[in-house]
Amino acid sequence: MNASGVTIRHVTKKYVTRRSGEVLALDDCSIVIRPNEFFVLVGPSGCGKTTLLNIVAGFDALTFGDVSVGNDLIAAPGVISDPGPDRMVVFQHGGLFPWMTVLENVCYGPVVQKQMTRAVARDHARGMLARVGLREIEERYPGEMSSGMRRRVEIIRALIGHPKVLLMDEPFRALDALNKSVVQEFLLRLFDTHACTIFFITHDLREALFLGDRVGVMTTRPGRVKTIVDVTLARPRSTRMLDSRDFLGLKAQLTEEVHEEALKAFAAGEREAAR
Ligand code: ADP
Ligand code: MG
Repeated sequence: MNASGVTIRHVTKKYVTRRSGEVLALDDCSIVIRPNEFFVLVGPSGCGKTTLLNIVAGFDALTFGDVSVGNDLIAAPGVISDPGPDRMVVFQHGGLFPWMTVLENVCYGPVVQKQMTRAVARDHARGMLARVGLREIEERYPGEMSSGMRRRVEIIRALIGHPKVLLMDEPFRALDALNKSVVQEFLLRLFDTHACTIFFITHDLREALFLGDRVGVMTTRPGRVKTIVDVTLARPRSTRMLDSRDFLGLKAQLTEEVHEEALKAFAAGEREAAR
């Protein structure tokens, strides 16, 4: 419906810090994410993945290059388009308001953004929660749910206002294996039924291939895309595919690409970024 591609062109990002001077996080990084594509980015810790996602989200400024979402210029030197309902972010540590019920949390964005009246947002949210099998929990508070359930609610909350792109920075990292696979399938089913463009970061290669249409591998810092792997697995995806020969072949290929960069990062003494 609303989905747009994301065009990242020649993006360079230099942080200037008091402690370590200049840090070149991204150098001439270009990625074209297609409308309605599920694009996954993987790469060693500290290579600049979060930096790139933050630039697209409007949380941070770039140094050179530009980013567009659809036809809208989001970022260029001196241009920063504030975070908005067109680019929704799902974070690793989540962000539901603990004092609000699930339904209130899901309605919150479109109401404060004045996209919908409270009544319309409630109807819309209830319909969406029901369609994804979450009707029973709409009056619960985040503290009363498992972390996997909270993740599902966060995804619904991000999608309710029909963003042009959904930005996800290692959203399932903190989940245990069982919860993770349930939430991955939940996201896949949503992707099958809702037109949306997803820019997803992970360091879990199995997750990258299970979810993505294409997987971009970033170089060690300064980050740019080294290779793009086409995930030639049909949709709808199912966990059964994870043992298929095609999947294992792709996994071996991706592992090799990432391992090479991880070795370089290790040699350069990179440590995991604090954020
Ligand atoms: P990734 O998400 O791939 O692990 P990041 O984008 O978080 O990597 O970080 C890329 C590099 O930029 C790292 O070397 C990190 O230390 C540095 N960095 C990230 N944020 C800042 C900041 N606010 N100030 C200075 N350096 C930063
Ligand atoms: Mg990161």
